[in-house]
This record gives sequence, C-alpha cells and structure tokens, in this order.
Amino acid sequence: MTHRPYNFSAGPATLPEPVLRQAAEEMLDWHGSGMGVMEMSHRGKEFVSIYEQAESTLRELLSVPAHFRILFMQGGGLGENAIVPMNLSRGGMVDIVVTGAWSQKSLQEAQRYADAKPAASNAADGHTSLPPASSWALRDAASYVHICSNETIHGVEMAALPDLAALGSRAPLVVDCSSHVLSRAIDWSRVGVAFAGAQKNIGPAGLTLVFVRDDLLGRALPICPSAFDYSIVAAHQSMYNTPPTYGIYMAGLVFQWVKAQGGVAEMDRRASEKAALLYGCLDSSGGFYRTRVDHSARSRMNVPFFLADESLNEAFLAGAREAGLLQLKGHKSVGGMRASLYNAMPLDGVQALVGYMQDFARRHG
Ligand SMILES: *Cc1c(COP(=O)(O)O)cnc(C)c1O
Repeated sequence: MTHRPYNFSAGPATLPEPVLRQAAEEMLDWHGSGMGVMEMSHRGKEFVSIYEQAESTLRELLSVPAHFRILFMQGGGLGENAIVPMNLSRGGMVDIVVTGAWSQKSLQEAQRYADAKPAASNAADGHTSLPPASSWALRDAASYVHICSNETIHGVEMAALPDLAALGSRAPLVVDCSSHVLSRAIDWSRVGVAFAGAQKNIGPAGLTLVFVRDDLLGRALPICPSAFDYSIVAAHQSMYNTPPTYGIYMAGLVFQWVKAQGGVAEMDRRASEKAALLYGCLDSSGGFYRTRVDHSARSRMNVPFFLADESLNEAFLAGAREAGLLQLKGHKSVGGMRASLYNAMPLDGVQALVGYMQDFARRHG
C-alpha cells in the first residue's frame, strides 16, 4: 500500500495528510522560533500570529460577517449544550428540535438551566427523518431555538438552515454544526449562534469553535463560569484563559488546506460527489446493504448502513481493516456500520470503500 489506510471514523477523525506532515515538520521548531507550538506562550507574538491567521482564514472561508465573533473555546459539543443555555436562555424558554442523539442530549442538558421543550421530534421513527420546519411548535417567548444541522450518529442532515423569521419566530437560531461545518456555506442571516467541536471536520479534539452574533453577547446567567461567558471570551479574543493552542494551530493548518483546495464551495462539491457514490452503492446492492434514513434527510457526512445479514458484520469489518478501510463500525446505539466522509476523506477513499463493499457482497450475496 502506497498510502495510509482510509479512516472513516466519526470523530476524532481523519485529517488531511499534508497537514499532518507539516505539523510533524514543525513539531520541534516552528518557523525558526526554536520552539514547538505546544511550548509557546499563548500571549507571545508567535502564537498570536498563528491565532490571528487561523481566525482570519476561517472568517474568509465561511464568509463570517463582521457582526459575528469567532470564539476558540474548550468543552466540546456537550460543553456547549450547557454553555449555550447559560449564555442565552436567561432562565426562560428554549425550543429544541430533536432530530437524533445529539439534539436529544442538548434538550436534556438545557433543561437543567431553562424551560427547554422539544419543538419537534423524530424519535418515533428512530431518528431517520426530518420533521418539516412548518410543523415545529415554536413558542413566542423562546429565548432561542436549537437545532443540530447534522446528526453524526443517526446520519440525518438538514439540507438548509430553517428561516425562523419566515416561520413567525423572532428567536435566534442556535446551530450545532459540529459534524459538517466547512462542508458547505452558512447563511448567517438565519443564525444567532453556531458551534462546532473541532474533532469531526476541523482538527484535534479539545477545540470548540463558537460563532456568536454581537447582539447576543452580555446575556449570561450569573452562574455561568467566566471562562464560558461568551462576552468575556469575546472581549479577550479567546485568551481570557489559556485556549487550546495546539488545536488552534492544527485547525489553522486545516483552514489553509481547505482554502488551497478551492474553499468551502469545493468541499461542498466533493461532499456531494462522495456521498452520491456511497449511497449509490447502498441503493444498487439489491438489499445486501441498506440505510434506514429517509432519502431527503440523508447526511453527506455520516452514513450509517446495515448488512441485511448481520451475522456477516464481523467478517465485513475484519475484511475492511485488511483492505485498509478503518473504523467502519457503527455507533453502539444504532449498530451496523457507519462511514464518515469528512472533508479530509479523499474521493479515492470512498471509491476504495465502495469497491470493497461490492466485492464483499459478491462473495457473500
Ligand atoms: C461529536 C458531537 C458532539 C459532542 O462533542 P464532544 O466534543 O464529545 O462533546 C455534539 N454534537 C454533535 C453534532 C457531534 O457530532
């Protein structure tokens, strides 16, 4: 094999090989500074330049408007499930659209801080469809509406962000876009806050990106830890406490890689191409493989699928490993298989997976 194995992990997930190589080269001495990035003061000019470049490249890639702050935080997606209600709910009402395991967790956590209720739920069909936005029960007094625009575990993705104003709501929209950020453009006119753990589509675990609209700063509950108060983090350019410096550096390298590949528009095009290839394989397998997700809700990033004969699961996974196709086992709550097709997964990797799946089906069908 002349390339590394293809890694389909849902997260922490595969990273672009040129990024890993550059990080390895710079490990002991970043740009002649005599220091590795992990060894730098976050307030020194070297790291500040790394931080500023990461921030500005990300702002450019996603066309983030000037009235949004970009915060580089810690705590991950689950941390944000508490940090968001502490910053935005004012202890009042929160409407949460439940579309899978992650938004379900967001609901449960928000209930500790606010009057959080599901505005809709697809639990009845096992989180395999998307409740249409026109059916959501939105409360007039809600302090925000929370959605997860790509459910990593159940493989359900919203094709577009809802237009809450058109639905008669004045509440800001909060978007957990952890597992598909940078795979498509974001319509900022529809967003109040968006957040994403880095370990799916951006970089190492430990870094969380938060985009906050200016007018939503300054609302934190008194119980909110200072290090998690968006207005304090924003006022200190994410350096109120020590940020996850190495994660920011790695994310910055990934942002530059995305830009060099042609930006988010190119990631978007590739995501469609890769997903079409894999779903095409599932759909044309004569029932050997199947996905339970509604056609209109299929995620381009995370594809859970099943073998009709589940007694073949172990053989499928063992053969895949041997063929250099790693981490295809499905999430324990769903079972079966899951292939994650993040930005760093090349088309070649999906072609190799589909080739293996077709061959496996021929041998066992
Ligand atoms: C992975 C994930 C999370 C949780 O992230 P942690 O960093 O483990 O807290 C939350 N939401 C979504 C959509 C995710 O994919």
